[in-house]
Amino acid sequence: MPKPATPLDLLLLPSWLVPVEPAGVVLKDHGLGIRDGQIVFIGPRAEAERFVAAETRELPGCLLSPGLINAHGHAAMTLFRGLADDLPLMTWLEEHIWPAEGRWVDEDFVRDGTDLAIAEQIKGGITCFADMYFFPKIASERVHNSGIRAQIAVPLLDFPIPGARSTEEALHLGIELFGDLRHHPRITVALGPHAPYTVSDENLEKIRVIAEELDAPIHMHLHETAFEVEQSLATRGERPLARIARLGLLGPRLQAVHMTQVSDEDLALLVESNTSVVHCPESNLKLASGFCPVERLWQAGVNVAVGTDGAASNNDLDLLGETRTAALLAKAVAGSAAALDAHRALRMATLNGARALGLETLTGSLEVGKAADLVAFDLSGLAQQPIYDPVSQLIYASGRDCVKHVWVAGKQLLDERRLTRMDEQALHAAACAWGQRIAERTE
Ligand SMILES: [Zn+2]
Repeated sequence: MPKPATPLDLLLLPSWLVPVEPAGVVLKDHGLGIRDGQIVFIGPRAEAERFVAAETRELPGCLLSPGLINAHGHAAMTLFRGLADDLPLMTWLEEHIWPAEGRWVDEDFVRDGTDLAIAEQIKGGITCFADMYFFPKIASERVHNSGIRAQIAVPLLDFPIPGARSTEEALHLGIELFGDLRHHPRITVALGPHAPYTVSDENLEKIRVIAEELDAPIHMHLHETAFEVEQSLATRGERPLARIARLGLLGPRLQAVHMTQVSDEDLALLVESNTSVVHCPESNLKLASGFCPVERLWQAGVNVAVGTDGAASNNDLDLLGETRTAALLAKAVAGSAAALDAHRALRMATLNGARALGLETLTGSLEVGKAADLVAFDLSGLAQQPIYDPVSQLIYASGRDCVKHVWVAGKQLLDERRLTRMDEQALHAAACAWGQRIAERTE
């Protein structure tokens, strides 16, 4: 039989291939071929072996899936990991996090904190993350250098923030960054109004106009707590989501982060507008913020993605662990063991994330024509035996230590659990140095 005309850069031969789309499928004895950073072939092993490949990799005991997508976080806050624990959201923010940010956050902090977050995420099988933090230009440079994929949201608040003296300046810098990265293959820029309680109607309207002009996503904390909703009702006479709808911000470009409070009216608004929700269960649990009704949203047709939130309120960037928490919590909240089964949980952590970030034609599933954003999970450990359904084993019985290889756009960023482009020792030393300085001044 003649060799196919299209040679491959890399042919992967895992024990199981889980494309996520079509839903619920597990392919055995299949291969995946990559050329120029794209998936160009998925098919039976016998067919795969006909290709001429520059490199062929057998992945025995491994499940190959789309890379995980962390749809919400504040990357550089890794450097505040564990600084203030066991506090409710507003006390945590107002008395601990905002003062620490005022004192410590500068370009160097964002550089080192973002690098630490990227390294942790790659090691945990994450190939794309949504970030919302100060000095977004610095964060985008770190993403560029590291090889990972990201959506960088420009933080917008009514008051001065590190890196921008006013909302106008922050918007101006955001528009500039959007222009600079418009054609970047791995980075998109979003507008990030922080929350309904930190951004005025006037600024939200400006943000809407600019987002429409640029065709940019909007990333925003929404309905994080019952207090947020009560306060808005008391001071404005309307729920935050209704206000956001009145101001014209609801729609497919909006990523509504948290949504622990969902009335019937809220649900109707989300469904009608095709707004995505980003569920951050561990942050919500740790800050006692409430529970997002994932199953109810899902059954109504809302796209629900999953995120870790920042490391200061989680305290890790472990999306596989987050997905397990989400699956378990969804059952408790829905009062149904059938809620968010393992296959749907994996879909939430991959394709739904891509859809929320407007990247579903590029990534989020293993399909010919999409970017080769992949993770190989090693399921050969004792704790994963026996294997009836590898996706069940992945979601319910595996930790992120089973992440063995990671590729983004066909480039290998993790090989045999080792980072290929980042110096782990240097990252460790930088994080410890920051920790020492911050601890000394906080005592
Ligand atoms: Zn957040």
